[in-house]
Amino acid sequence: MRCTVCALFGVSILAAQPAPGTNPEVIQVRPNFYMIAGAGGNIGFQVGADGVVVVDAGSASGADAVVAAIRKITGQPIRYVIDTSADPDHVGGNATVAKAGQTLFTQTGGAGLAADFQGGGASILSVEQVLTRMSGPSGKPSPFPPGAWPTETFHQSRKYMYLNGEGIEVFHQPAAHSDGDAIVFFRRSDVVVAGDILDTTRFPVIDIAKGGSIQGEIAALQKLIDTAIPSVPIVSRDEGTLIIPGHGRLCDQLDVVEYRDMVTIIRDRVRDLIKQGLTLEQIQAASPARGYTRRYGSGAGSKATNEFIEAVYRSMSEKSR
Ligand SMILES: [Zn+2]
Repeated sequence: MRCTVCALFGVSILAAQPAPGTNPEVIQVRPNFYMIAGAGGNIGFQVGADGVVVVDAGSASGADAVVAAIRKITGQPIRYVIDTSADPDHVGGNATVAKAGQTLFTQTGGAGLAADFQGGGASILSVEQVLTRMSGPSGKPSPFPPGAWPTETFHQSRKYMYLNGEGIEVFHQPAAHSDGDAIVFFRRSDVVVAGDILDTTRFPVIDIAKGGSIQGEIAALQKLIDTAIPSVPIVSRDEGTLIIPGHGRLCDQLDVVEYRDMVTIIRDRVRDLIKQGLTLEQIQAASPARGYTRRYGSGAGSKATNEFIEAVYRSMSEKSR
């Protein structure tokens, strides 16, 4: 029954403007809120009198199609791009999507100076770590062009805005998929954009080299669960908070609970095997992800599963050292 999630939530699928190589799907999740799938990571965007607020810009190759898809829904200018991490499939489209927009700021100073400096396009907001990653270490070529870099960053755990008649909260998750993850909550629309903390197509990607950890991943999933409200006590209604994952299908709170439980069970199994003194190879051979590999192990190969187990192992063994 849950596989018919679109029917369940009464959302409609709209055809997007086809573009060479990319044909993103646009899903209306609320009267003023849309999800774009198929242009890199999932994208969420809110539309209103103040303009368009976009969460994630997808991949560089899909960016023109993303702009066309937004244009098809509204003529309002894109005001903000909010990044959920520094991964190329989420920020690769930053420059193109921001350039197609128009900053809310004029020459009056503050963050507006930076936005104007970038040519007056939409502001790009992220946690500080995303800018650090995208600009790269000094003295080396940057992994992304300056036009794709965030124009506004924050280092506190919560950043907020009030646009299009609703509060928008951006929560930094300091050590989950990476050290630069953010989840974005649109309070009136009741939609959360989760980024790669939640990926319904596979085990979560935990990038230890970029500051990710299993403990932070579970904490971030818990934050999503705590932010969302399901349709209780009247469960027969198609209501409740909607969560857009980094990849995969639209979720509700129960979906995230199941995902968190899966991740927690595997973490506990790996922890027990570490306590027994097993090496990483022995732990991988003991299949601690059993019962979940068909659904989250990315097909026949065991690469995704082994990478996930390694990330869990390294998070825990490095912590206990
Ligand atoms: Zn992704």
